[in-house]
Amino acid sequence: MTHRLRVATIFALGLAWCLFAETAFAQKTHVVKSGDSLDRIARQYGVRVPALIAENDLDRPDFLKPGQVLKIPTAAAPVRKRYTVVEGDSLGTIARDHNVSPASLAALNKLSDPDKLRVGQILEIPSDGTPPAPPQIPLPTSLKNTLDTIPVRNGRWKYIVIHHSATANGSAQGMENYHRFKRHMENGLAYHFVIGNGKGMPDGQIAIGRRWRSQLNGGHLASERLNEVAIGICLVGNFNQTRPTPAQMRSLTALTSYLLQRTRLSATAVRGHRQINTKPTECPGHNFPMKTLLQGLP
Ligand SMILES: [Zn+2]
Repeated sequence: MTHRLRVATIFALGLAWCLFAETAFAQKTHVVKSGDSLDRIARQYGVRVPALIAENDLDRPDFLKPGQVLKIPTAAAPVRKRYTVVEGDSLGTIARDHNVSPASLAALNKLSDPDKLRVGQILEIPSDGTPPAPPQIPLPTSLKNTLDTIPVRNGRWKYIVIHHSATANGSAQGMENYHRFKRHMENGLAYHFVIGNGKGMPDGQIAIGRRWRSQLNGGHLASERLNEVAIGICLVGNFNQTRPTPAQMRSLTALTSYLLQRTRLSATAVRGHRQINTKPTECPGHNFPMKTLLQGLP
């Protein structure tokens, strides 16, 4: 091959690859329309809300602007459920119990006479378009039992805010002393929860602060208005230098999932300190894996 021909060939191959890559890997996007919500968009594309927030690094997921372009995450293949027909079932009752339409159930299972179901017959249940939530990490039973005894008023909380201590080690007691005696906060520990990293407090241990036990406002944000409605969780560690330990991330995911259910909030309520604070801050550190947290939430 002459030099010029070789160059031409390489150029042509490159162009072909680009065109192929363009169609094969182009990411689906959605342009926000007025009246859109993350919930609606997630349902439209069959993805989960936390995945949508994570994919787009949304700092304020409850404020979408018309014209804003959202990247749609690649949905995991929906898992199909199966159902075994029992005495007394009808296509209508099975469809209602699984929140699908009788027509889609009949179509998926190629039922020529939907009135004739056999006991023991196995039906495939169509996916409702939303991938299942990841398996939930449970809280330790004794901790969950304690949390369950604390009354939480409906509508009391609007945000769950994640912080780091910005120190290599620390404990709930140490922070309590610092906030009460050095910072003169009359309610002590500014956070509702602290999660240890094995240096000063056991790795992954969740300490429940008095502000959560008594449902008091937080003291962890610059704005008092936000402190009134924001739950504060502090992870011990400086995540500008290190990352949270695996045990801390498991505890944080379990605690956040529990709190979302308890407060009836969705994953759009979960923020890093810097995403919500009225003053600039690096908290919870450049290495804090917000995407990992979001993807583990219900
Ligand atoms: Zn913070």
